[in-house]
Amino acid sequence: MIEITLLGTGSPLVDPDRAGPATLVRAGGTTLLFDCGRGVLMRAAAVGVQANALTALVLTHLHSDHITDLNDVITSRWVTTFAPTPLRVIGPPGTASVVDGLLASLAPDISYRLAHHDDLTWDPGVEVAEHLEGVVFDEDGVRVLAAPTDHRPVHPSVGFRVEHGGHAVVIAGDTVPCEGLDRLCQGADALVHTVIRADLVEAIPLPRLQDILDYHSSVEQAAQTAARNGVGTLVLTHYVPPLLPGAEDEWHSKAAEHFDGPIEMGNDLHVVRIGP
Ligand SMILES: [Zn+2]
Ligand SMILES: [Zn+2]
Repeated sequence: MIEITLLGTGSPLVDPDRAGPATLVRAGGTTLLFDCGRGVLMRAAAVGVQANALTALVLTHLHSDHITDLNDVITSRWVTTFAPTPLRVIGPPGTASVVDGLLASLAPDISYRLAHHDDLTWDPGVEVAEHLEGVVFDEDGVRVLAAPTDHRPVHPSVGFRVEHGGHAVVIAGDTVPCEGLDRLCQGADALVHTVIRADLVEAIPLPRLQDILDYHSSVEQAAQTAARNGVGTLVLTHYVPPLLPGAEDEWHSKAAEHFDGPIEMGNDLHVVRIGP
């Protein structure tokens, strides 16, 4: 079974009820965190996952809302492990320099804790692997493949396909429909796609908001990507504007115009299980 938990279904817009973009995928004893937006570890704790239990953190791109709490993941893992246990971070080219900059900003904190705790004698380790394409993880019967997506001018950006036990789940991240995402989605059991409601965004006469239309998929486009590639279940997340209580049917019908299969959406901690 592959278990998908929508840890954070929010967006850059601060929302009291939705954490920032983050999706947990658990399969075969492996715990993979995709993106680490605002409040990610609070939500992960709600499903019994601490930073020290992550097999790897996987980043789709380096937009701030998707990496807001990278510092928290690095530091919380460091202070809750009792032997050097580097955090593995898989992300697009550019990830290593973001991590280096973050570690530099944490230098005072690192020095305080090393000075204060006699049993803590190592720095927070982070092992970064930068990938755009191909197999990025292959352990314990879990394989993760990457392919480039299109979120320009945010570049590079990457989507991922998690395979386990004959099932496959795709994490699209932020992207417009593109060939790389289509490739990952071929015959997948589920596609987790960040979406915007283009019709609602178009109605808000704010240039800063209008700008987001050209580099995200609308609900309809995400549904078309799922349909075009024979995906089993479409999972919507990263709702812009926020998915309001009672509006689920409206969002659902926009997707259902283009996709026949099950459509999942919801609040933070919504779970979708794929396979027996
Ligand atoms: Zn983005
Ligand atoms: Zn985003």
